[in-house]
Amino acid sequence: MGIAGSRVAVIGGSIAGCAAAIALARAGCDVTVFERTQGVLRDRGFGIGMPPSMIETLIAAGYVSPVLPVVPGEERVFVVRDGDTPAGRVLWRQPLPVRFTNWSLLWRSLRQQVADPVYRDGVIAVIEDMNDMGVTVSAGTSAGTRFDLVVGADGYNSAVRQRVAPGSSPHLPGYGLWRGTYPERLLPDGATAALEPGAMMVCFPGGHAMIYLIPDHLRTGRRLVNWGVYLCPPQPMTDPALIPPGQVPTATMIPLRDAVTRGFPPLWADVVGRTPAERISVQPIFDVIAPQYVSGRLALAGDAGTTARPHTGSGAVKALEDALALESGCHSAAEWASVLAGYDRARAAAGNALTTLGRSLGRVLVENTPDWGALSETDLPELWREAASGRMSLYE
Ligand SMILES: Cc1cc2nc3c(=O)[nH]c(=O)nc-3n(C[C@H](O)[C@H](O)[C@H](O)COP(=O)(O)OP(=O)(O)OC[C@H]3O[C@@H](n4cnc5c(N)ncnc54)[C@H](O)[C@@H]3O)c2cc1C
Repeated sequence: MGIAGSRVAVIGGSIAGCAAAIALARAGCDVTVFERTQGVLRDRGFGIGMPPSMIETLIAAGYVSPVLPVVPGEERVFVVRDGDTPAGRVLWRQPLPVRFTNWSLLWRSLRQQVADPVYRDGVIAVIEDMNDMGVTVSAGTSAGTRFDLVVGADGYNSAVRQRVAPGSSPHLPGYGLWRGTYPERLLPDGATAALEPGAMMVCFPGGHAMIYLIPDHLRTGRRLVNWGVYLCPPQPMTDPALIPPGQVPTATMIPLRDAVTRGFPPLWADVVGRTPAERISVQPIFDVIAPQYVSGRLALAGDAGTTARPHTGSGAVKALEDALALESGCHSAAEWASVLAGYDRARAAAGNALTTLGRSLGRVLVENTPDWGALSETDLPELWREAASGRMSLYE
């Protein structure tokens, strides 16, 4: 059967699901998105980094609004504690052209491109059966409906992945990412100016922090400071579920407080220390390898495929690239078999390469950190290049 006019179900209506729905609608498909959360997806309010070229492509292709708020950055400054020097000592200014946005703003911008009748929220979709020509999906109380293609955009714990790549599941290295945000106006003196050129990387024994500014999703024209601290807690983390803002147990805050007090330059310790406890969340780090992205008429997108550690800055980017690849495959082939074969080859390779990159960066930046302060100005770029398979920056 041809592509245009095909009935397609997208399971999951977050970043990957909305982007896939836009892609497939543009290819002429009759798309239905099933999202189990009712109404607006509740934001976690955190930042997302994307290469400038990705934003330009998304705007040019009509996926997101040209007025999507972003905070531009051009470099990432690695610093280490140096006695009482407020902002620490600069180890390396890594060129990193990036556009920071806010997850909520990105999701809302994508969601606006998906017509309301197409987006069925408050509905859990379940695959009933499948063969080489289609897939039957039941959704909520509706009886099974036959689709020519189902895209699993159901996140890192994907049920669709279990059918496409059985046995692929989250692998946890044991460390976590403590994250927080608050309004820029509450930053200590000197922090805003230091953050204007891009992101700060605060390096300490056993981990590092990323600190950068993002657009505020609630107050137009304002910005938030967004920080994330990667560290290994005394007890390795074994459950990949996010501990949402406001629900982090006091004991889980202790490793963060210790790392910040002992390892951060005073200015950056103050920046993290000013965060209200109810705005801090903890994401156990995990990743997923998936040998394939397609099985019959099932395809994976976003975190439902592979998932890379956040050091790669790729969660949203990969989901959006999946959608762009799907759309371009649909425009260049006449039937699903060749669209899906090309998508499988390209996206499984790209996704697994990112997972491998994330593991390698995690080893150097968290699991086996060097003596940061002893590194010369050529050592750190060299160390980075080795860990990042020859890249000097993230989005090369
Ligand atoms: C509410 C929310 C807030 C987030 N906030 C941030 C953030 O601030 N910063 C950040 O870096 N990342 C955030 N993420 C993660 C980020 O969206 C992803 O890592 C990345 O963008 C890839 O997204 P995804 O669409 O593949 O997966 P996800 O964003 O995880 O979305 C998967 C979606 O599938 C839905 N779903 C799962 N199973 C079913 C089913 N059977 N039927 C119907 N629906 C189903 C889920 O409800 C979910 O909305 C957030 C994710 C969510 C869901």
